[in-house]
Amino acid sequence: MAILKILTKEDELLRKKSRPVDEITPRILRLLDDMKDTLHKANGAGLAAPQVGVLRRVVLVETEPGDLIELINPEIIEVSEERQEGMEGCLSVPNEWGIVDRPMTVTVKAQNRKGEWFTMTGSELKARCFCHELDHLDGILYTDKASKMLDPDELDED
Ligand code: ZN
Repeated sequence: MAILKILTKEDELLRKKSRPVDEITPRILRLLDDMKDTLHKANGAGLAAPQVGVLRRVVLVETEPGDLIELINPEIIEVSEERQEGMEGCLSVPNEWGIVDRPMTVTVKAQNRKGEWFTMTGSELKARCFCHELDHLDGILYTDKASKMLDPDELDED
């Protein structure tokens, strides 16, 4: 177990496309475990492998404590027509927040750590996290999609 360094937005690795995981090796399992420790330490809702400098299609989402979802080679296979607009942040973009439009409900297909394929549907915050973390695998940051970035001073007022 280890806490990994989280890259911040200036790092060009965050702009690269991640490669699929062909085989779930002990190294990938170790990556999943280290990403979990890193996510918990940082108190985040999700983490993608490129954020810790590994260009592999591996993502963690944990929108409720204890409900950790490991996604290997994830793909979005269905999105709702209904949209949601809300505030988003990123461990790689510290102390900034922005408003991002996302689908209200998203279904992803992915492999678990045993290599088994499964599908999972999430709404609201979970749907937002699926979209945000999967974007990382293609080198996209939420700041690219935000309709508005929030002024930290404005946030302090309430
Ligand atoms: Zn992020």
